[in-house]
Amino acid sequence: MSCKPDYIIKVDPLHRFVIPVNVRQKLNIQSGDKLEVFCDDNKIILQPRSTRCIICGLNNPIITYVNDQPICCDCYKQIIS
Ligand SMILES: [Zn+2]
Repeated sequence: MSCKPDYIIKVDPLHRFVIPVNVRQKLNIQSGDKLEVFCDDNKIILQPRSTRCIICGLNNPIITYVNDQPICCDCYKQIIS
């Protein structure tokens, strides 16, 4: 990570902020998407929520979430069979 920020954004009175459009486009962040938030010392790290299945690790279509973790269709079928 470089020392110079790519953007400086402002937190509004309700503690909200806007992700710059260039960042949204680069990471394909759409309205309603969920982001994972990590706190690291004095840094906040945001990343699009993983869509990889926690069992097989593949990027298969997600059919359900268990404890907020994605499970793909193939793994779900194996679990319930
Ligand atoms: Zn899977």
